Amino acid sequence: MNEQYDVIVIGGGPGGYPAAIRAAQNGLKVACVDEWRNRDGGHAFGGTCLNAGCIPSKALLESTELLHRARHEFAAHGIGVSGVAVDLAAMQKRRATIVKTMTGGILALFKASGVVPVEGHGRLLAGNQVEVTGFDGSKRTLLAKDVILASGSTPLRLPNVPHDGRRIVDSWDALEFDSVPKRLGIIGAGVIGLELGSVWRRLGSEVTMLEALDRFLPMADGAVSKEAQRHFKKLGLDIQLGAKVARATVAGDRVEVVYTTAAGERTLEVDVLVVAVGRRPFTEGLLAPDAGVTQDERGFIRVDEHCRTAVPRVWAVGDVVRGPMLAHKGKEEGIMVADLIAGRYGEVNYRVIPSVIYTAPEIAWVGQTEEQAKAGGRSIKVGQFPFAASGRARAMESPAGFAKIVAAADDDEILGVHIIGPMAGELIAEAVLAMEYSASAEDLQRTIHAHPTLSEALHEAALAVDKRAIDSINR
Ligand code: FAD
Ligand code: NAD
Repeated sequence: MNEQYDVIVIGGGPGGYPAAIRAAQNGLKVACVDEWRNRDGGHAFGGTCLNAGCIPSKALLESTELLHRARHEFAAHGIGVSGVAVDLAAMQKRRATIVKTMTGGILALFKASGVVPVEGHGRLLAGNQVEVTGFDGSKRTLLAKDVILASGSTPLRLPNVPHDGRRIVDSWDALEFDSVPKRLGIIGAGVIGLELGSVWRRLGSEVTMLEALDRFLPMADGAVSKEAQRHFKKLGLDIQLGAKVARATVAGDRVEVVYTTAAGERTLEVDVLVVAVGRRPFTEGLLAPDAGVTQDERGFIRVDEHCRTAVPRVWAVGDVVRGPMLAHKGKEEGIMVADLIAGRYGEVNYRVIPSVIYTAPEIAWVGQTEEQAKAGGRSIKVGQFPFAASGRARAMESPAGFAKIVAAADDDEILGVHIIGPMAGELIAEAVLAMEYSASAEDLQRTIHAHPTLSEALHEAALAVDKRAIDSINR
C-alpha cells in the first residue's frame, strides 16, 4: 500500500528541512525526501548550505582569518608570535567535523518533531504522488495532500572550461582541497569567488580572479564596493575586471586560461582553476512530464509570491525559485509555505532580505543602495559613520570600513543599510529588524546602543543622516 502523508518535502536543504519541521510543528504528518551524496558516498541532510556551502566555507573563513590576524595583527596588540604554522589537514578535519555535527543535528531535529526522513531521489508525479528511488535502486510511491519542492541549485558550468574536479573545479571541490594551490585562478569575482579567494589567499595561494563585468560587486552600494575593492587588493587578490574567458585547457599539472580584456587577449597559467560564475536551479529528474509544474526560461520553477506553483497544493521554495539564492531566504519561504498549508498566516518580506559576504572586512547590506534609491526617483538623505571612529572597533584592531544608512528625505524611512567592517553580518540584523518595522532614521537615533559596541556605528550613521553625528565629523 502507498504511504500517505499530509506533506512531502523534496529536498532537505535550508529551504526544505525547516518547511518539514514547521509542518510537523503544525500537527501534520510529514516526510522529507533527500538525495544528497557526500564525496564519501554517504548521505546527509542539509543540502548545499550545510554540506558544501554556507557552513564549510564559514569554517574555513574563520580559521584563515585567525591565521591572518595572528600573522598581521597580533604584533599591534603587543603579542609576539613566532613560527605560526598551518596544519591544513587539521583545519579541514575541523571543517568536516562542523559539517557532520550540523547535518547530524537535522536528523535529531526531525526525530524530535516527528518528520520522517527518506533517503533517495524524489520525483513528482501527477496527482501529488512522489516516487522515491532509494540509493539501492528500489522504488516506492508516497502520497501527500501537499508537496513542497526544495531541490536547490547547482553550479553553473562554462562552455570551453571543462570541469574535471581536480584542476578545473567548482566551489565544493575548492572547499575540500588537501593542499594549498600555489597559483589559484577563479572565474567570477562574486560572493563565492571572494570568500574562497580570501581563504586560499590567506593560506598562501597567489589568487587571480577573472570577472566578466567592468564594475566590482555591482549588487553592493557603490561606496561599499569601492572600499571592498581596496581591501581585497591589500589582501593580495588580483581581481581583473572586464575579463571575458574564451577557454581553459588542462596541460599536465597546470591550467591555461585564455581571456580577453580591453587590452586584448591574455593567457593566465594557474595550478587550479575554480569556476564560480553563479548557480542554476536544480530540477534534474524532479518532475514527471505530466506533473504540471512549470518552469521559466532559466529553469526556475514558476511560483507566485506565496510560493504556489501552477499545480494546486504543490509549492516550491529556496534556490529552485526566483529571488536571491540565500539560505535564509529559502528558510523563510519554507516556513511560510508550511504555515499556509496549515491554514495559518504566512508571508515573506522580499524587500528586506539581508546579504552578507563573510570576508574581512565583512560586508552586509539590506534594502536599497544609494544608487538604486536615486534611480527610483526618491529624494534621499545619507548618513555614514567610519569604524575608525568607533572605540570598540579600535580596541578590536579593526578600524576599516563604515556603516551607511540611506533614508527617504520626505518621511525619514530607512530605505537601505550598508555595512563594511567588523561583524557586519551580525550588525545588519538590527537594520533588518528596523526596516521590517518600517523604522525611520530618527527611530534608530532614539534607540540606546551600549557603549562601546560596534552597533554604535549604526546609531551614529542614523544620526549622520541628519548631520547630527556626535563621534564623527558631519559632512
Ligand atoms: P539546497 O541547499 O541545494 O538543498 C537542496 C537539497 O535537495 C539537496 O540536498 C539536494 O541533494 C536535494 N535534492 C535535489 N533534488 C532532489 C530530488 N529530486 N529528490 C531528493 N532530493 C533532492 N547562502 C547563505 O545564505 N549564506 C552563506 O553564507 C552561503 N554560503 C554559500 C557558500 C557556497 C560555497 C555555496 C555554494 C552556497 C552558499 N550559500 C550561502 C547559498 C546557499 O547554500 C543556498 O542558498 C541554499 O543552500 C539553498 O537552499 P535550498 O534548500 O533551496 O537548496
Ligand atoms: P555570484 O552571482 O555571486 O557571482 C558570480 C560572478 O561571476 C559575478 O560577478 C558574474 O559577473 C561573474 N561571471 C559570470 N559569468 C562569468 C564569466 N563567464 N566570466 C567571468 N565572470 C563571470 O555567484 P557565485 O559567487 O557563484 O555564488 C552563487 C550563489 O551562491 C549566489 O547567488 C550567492 O548568493 C550564493 N552564495 C552566498 C554566499 C553568502 O551569502 N555569503 C556565499 C556564497 C554563495
